[in-house]
Amino acid sequence: MSKLRFKAVEEAYKKKAAAVSAPEALTSSYYGKSVFNKAQMTKYLSKETLDALTAVIERGETLDRELANHVAAGMKAWAIENGATHYTHWFQPLTEGTAEKHDSFIEYSGAPGSPVIEEFSGKLLAQQEPDASSFPSGGIRNTFEARGYTAWDPSSPAFIVDDTLCIPTVFISYTGEALDYKTPLLKALNAVDKAAVDVCHYFDKSVKKVFSYLGWEQEYFLIDDGLYATRPDLMLTGRTLIGHDSAKDQQLEDHYFGSVPTRVQAYMKDIEYEGYKYGIPLKTRHNEVAPNQFELAPIFGETNLSVDQNLLMMSIMKKVARRHGFRLLLHEKPFAGINGSGKHNNWSLGTDTGVGLLTPGKTPEENLQFITFVVNILMAVYKNNALLKASIMTAQNAHRLGANEAPPAIISVFLGSQVSSVLDKLEKATSEQAIVIDSKQRMRLGIAKIPEVLLDNTDRNRTSPFAFTGNRFEFRAVGSSANCASGMITLNAIVAAQLKEFKKTVDAEITKGAAKNKAIFEVLKKYIKESKPIRFDGNGYSEEWKEEAAKRGLDCETSVPLIIDAHTSKDAVKLFESIEVLSERELHARNEVKWETYTKKIQIESRVLGDLVLNHIIPVATKYQSSLLDNVYKLYQVYSKEKASELGALDKGIIEEISERISIIKYRVEAMIEARKVANKIESEREKAIEYHDKVLPFFDEIRYQVDKLELVVDNELWPMPKYRELLFIR
Ligand code: ADP
Ligand code: MG
Repeated sequence: MSKLRFKAVEEAYKKKAAAVSAPEALTSSYYGKSVFNKAQMTKYLSKETLDALTAVIERGETLDRELANHVAAGMKAWAIENGATHYTHWFQPLTEGTAEKHDSFIEYSGAPGSPVIEEFSGKLLAQQEPDASSFPSGGIRNTFEARGYTAWDPSSPAFIVDDTLCIPTVFISYTGEALDYKTPLLKALNAVDKAAVDVCHYFDKSVKKVFSYLGWEQEYFLIDDGLYATRPDLMLTGRTLIGHDSAKDQQLEDHYFGSVPTRVQAYMKDIEYEGYKYGIPLKTRHNEVAPNQFELAPIFGETNLSVDQNLLMMSIMKKVARRHGFRLLLHEKPFAGINGSGKHNNWSLGTDTGVGLLTPGKTPEENLQFITFVVNILMAVYKNNALLKASIMTAQNAHRLGANEAPPAIISVFLGSQVSSVLDKLEKATSEQAIVIDSKQRMRLGIAKIPEVLLDNTDRNRTSPFAFTGNRFEFRAVGSSANCASGMITLNAIVAAQLKEFKKTVDAEITKGAAKNKAIFEVLKKYIKESKPIRFDGNGYSEEWKEEAAKRGLDCETSVPLIIDAHTSKDAVKLFESIEVLSERELHARNEVKWETYTKKIQIESRVLGDLVLNHIIPVATKYQSSLLDNVYKLYQVYSKEKASELGALDKGIIEEISERISIIKYRVEAMIEARKVANKIESEREKAIEYHDKVLPFFDEIRYQVDKLELVVDNELWPMPKYRELLFIR
């Protein structure tokens, strides 16, 4: 194995940047060419079909079979002209990632000698019944029907990957329950649209629709694929289970925003090219804080579309990495001791009249609207902080939250000094006239030729899991490998429910005779007081904050299986049912899936760790130990007893250290296997996950500690797997 390590290191070191497949043409010349967007629709659909489809997309009208047939015909023509031979319904099961089953366009009558023809009917476009019995359903399908349906989501455009037309769909059970992320996401977006439009009407009667916007920032690591292949832990779990810190990692902060390495630069160009073809407006790329960590972000867009684009982008990134001799790591915490990867979800609401509801306004009326939305979001996050945390919590993300430069596993909201002071003023004010914000605070630098810099309305606080950043909230607790939909379903749902309640309360005041602005003002004042515990502008990484948060009554649970419980609390069920996003049955089923997934992840990691240490590390440590023993033995042959004892003293110390560590490791691994056996016998998915968390997981750090110490003493020539310095600094 160590031979393999050195070969991999040598080869990785020699690799040059791969050729870039992006053409030397303006981005706009190929942007969106692989997606059936408005421009393509105009070309391939009749005017009546396009108008009818637009009504379906924009006004949520139902898609009838005849319309589906017309759309399918146009879509097929476009797809075949662009090299597609197959089609698939592309959906988002609860496994994270996407699923697809490809069928060819060909049909034939079955009569002997009859020719095949390319067919694609409205029926095939609109609905399918994949044999999906092995997708997780949390028991929903087992008890009733094994069947699941996929149905087209016309609001997300179809696209072509290689030779296949991909049709974004929802995935539901025979009994109509959601088995995916898209179904509840669409419902949550609909709920927040309705609730927000109602509230907007206090300020502007012309608003007809409110959009939820998402701009994600995807962090990732790239590792040379030869090195990756020599690490069973990376291959099977996506993270390193052992490995001592490199003497140098991110402490000098010389990687962040540094010049991008050439192999990575070529990779970035290629993924951007691929993304542009799908109409994904990729905007930002840079090095991240940790060595070999990078980030990619598009311009924000409508949330449903943006979620799809992120999923598509993650699969493109994975695929293209291979062409460049890399492996993509989307895991939230591939390396201990250095930064993990998140996926900041920048989120906002905006009206069809072009007003950003989280953008401070220019007039007092606009500002009252802005404050109304900010305060309601505060309330929503305050009341549902445990639920919001549950929406982004996974086995992987648990390693990241609360560790290096990641928000803690406690949800709080950072508002920045300016908005905070407005709320503080408002809380004490006696009249609604108090709301005035300078939307453009300008700072003059006093340096010639440098234009004045517009001061962000917020300070930057990287430690907050949910931060106001001038015209949006940045939900930073989301993990890098997650489907953004999970957090977006919950966030949009809690805000929708809160806005509904706000509207009800204000309307009641108005009915009692209060003036509109006065009623809004009074309710907001109450909310500002009540939601205070969720506001925290200090250092979220500090120990003091953990104590303080507990005192404030915020959810501080760190055990993933228990955090997940929040989905099925009485309040959560009531909330999701009241806005018709998820039913109690669906919530329970989804939790079953979450617990099962948690257990499986820990189980796999535990097996890989046991195998690694018993079969890869201990044999090597033993071999080194026996070479030291041999040396000491020979000293006694050559020298006097006293002299040999003196010369061999240090080696003897190392021999004993290795012995002790090996025996601790063996005992710990054995105990871990026993703990697994006990856990595996538990029937309930919830209890099993708790057992894995409480009884199996704690062994990981104990075992790793011993192995990492061995790495420091065992001969480097023998060490079988690439060390952190090799994984992180070869690019
Ligand atoms: P950062 O400084 O945090 O890296 P960026 O300027 O790179 O922020 O933007 C991060 C993301 O936020 C981008 O996708 C951007 O388009 C998005 N974004 C900007 N404004 C909004 C908004 N009003 N609503 C949602 N997302 C937004
Ligand atoms: Mg950001």
